[in-house]
Order: sequence, then C-alpha cells, then structure tokens
Amino acid sequence: MIVLGKIYVLKEPGRDKAWNIYALREAARLKRWFQGVYYSPRLKRLLAVFKPTPGTHVNMLVFEEMGESVLRDAYRMECPRGCNRCCVLRSGAFMIENELRNLPGDVRDRVTRQPSELIKTPGGWVRVYRLDTEPMGRCIFFDVEKGTCMLEGLGKHNKPIVCLLTYCTVFATRDGKLYLKKGYRVHRDGRAEIHYEEVDEKTWRRMVARMGSVWTRYRKIYKQQQTEEGTA
Ligand code: SF4
Ligand code: SF4
Repeated sequence: MIVLGKIYVLKEPGRDKAWNIYALREAARLKRWFQGVYYSPRLKRLLAVFKPTPGTHVNMLVFEEMGESVLRDAYRMECPRGCNRCCVLRSGAFMIENELRNLPGDVRDRVTRQPSELIKTPGGWVRVYRLDTEPMGRCIFFDVEKGTCMLEGLGKHNKPIVCLLTYCTVFATRDGKLYLKKGYRVHRDGRAEIHYEEVDEKTWRRMVARMGSVWTRYRKIYKQQQTEEGTA
C-alpha cells in the first residue's frame, strides 16, 4: 500500500502587494522542499506544493496543509527549455532579500546593485530587488545566447521564488504524458477551469518553438547589436 503524506500548499495570492511579498518571503524559506506547481481539475486551482521534512517550521498564515492524494489527478506545470518568454520580455523578475543568503558573493553583489524597494509587510520590512532591468524588461540573469537562466546553473533552488512559482500554464505533464492547454473558463466564483489536451512530442516541440520565437527574435537583434558594438 502506498502511504501518501502531507503537503503544504501556498495560499493563493491576493490583491495586497505587501501580503503577497510576505507570503513569497515565507515560501522562499522552504525553497529546497519545493515540489512543483500543479493544476487540480477537482479544485479548479493551481497548487504551489512544498513537502518539507517533518519538524520544519511552516508558516500556516501563508500555507495550507493538504493530503498528497489531492495531486492524484493533477497536472504538473512545465516550463520546457527553449521557450524563455518569461525571462526575455517584461520578465518582472525580482528577488526577495532572504533569497540572497545562499548565493555566491559575486552574484549577491550583482543583485544588491539593482534598484530595490523596501516594503512594509505583516512580517516587517522586506527589501525586494528588481531583476528586470535589461532592455525590454529582460532579466539580468538571462543568458540571451544560450537561452538559459544563469542562476539555475547554480542549482534550481537559487532561482527566485517568484520564478519557481510562476507558470504560463500552457505546458503540463501527467503520468508521463504531455499536455497542452486548450482553453480555460472563469467561473462566477473566480475559479479558472483549465482544459488540457494530450499531445505527442512533435506537437509539444512545435508549441515550444512557437512560444520561443520571442526569444529567438530577441537573440537575433541582440547578436546584431553585439557585432555592431564590436566593430564600432
Ligand atoms: S511562457 Fe511558459 S514555458 Fe515559456 S518561459 Fe514562461 S512559464 Fe516557461
Ligand atoms: S532569474 Fe532566471 S528564471 Fe527568473 S526571470 Fe531571471 S533568467 Fe528567468
């Protein structure tokens, strides 16, 4: 018999920016136990799932406890390599001060040189550093040529919590099968019902290329500019 355990799901964000930053700061504390973001068709809800080892302090103001069985029919949100849309254009990426602790010194210095904002949250003042300051909102940690996140190279949990939790919901997997979003419907209570369709790998790859065209166009212009600067 498979024994399913407990999971902790981050409560859904609200309209209050200060509260949301507070919730993200608390979630960032548990980053290394982050399991992924799932869409539950039963709950009609995205679930940001953490599974800390027993005894870890979990702030129940921002998390709720659920049985792992809630994930049985859930789709796991995926971010396939080669898209990069979220990193290259209006990324809106940021990093919360408690995320800097485990970064190497040079990376930390790079972040602390970025524009920042002090936000008064229910848990005290929290400094938030903007990472979206390159042309067209590109993230400072996005490697345009390779199409990779430089922080991911240091270990997935060095990525900002906001990047770990934010998904376009276009790509999903379930039981080893690939799915693409076909559409969604918003109910009166505000719940969004997302519809997924199983696809083959070719269709999936085509969608990655389509979504990734923003990055490939950006890369072309970026390379041209680099060449011009080099020959000037
Ligand atoms: S648009 Fe979707 S697949 Fe593309 S980078 Fe963003 S989350 Fe990933
Ligand atoms: S930190 Fe990484 S994942 Fe997040 S926006 Fe920047 S390049 Fe993308």
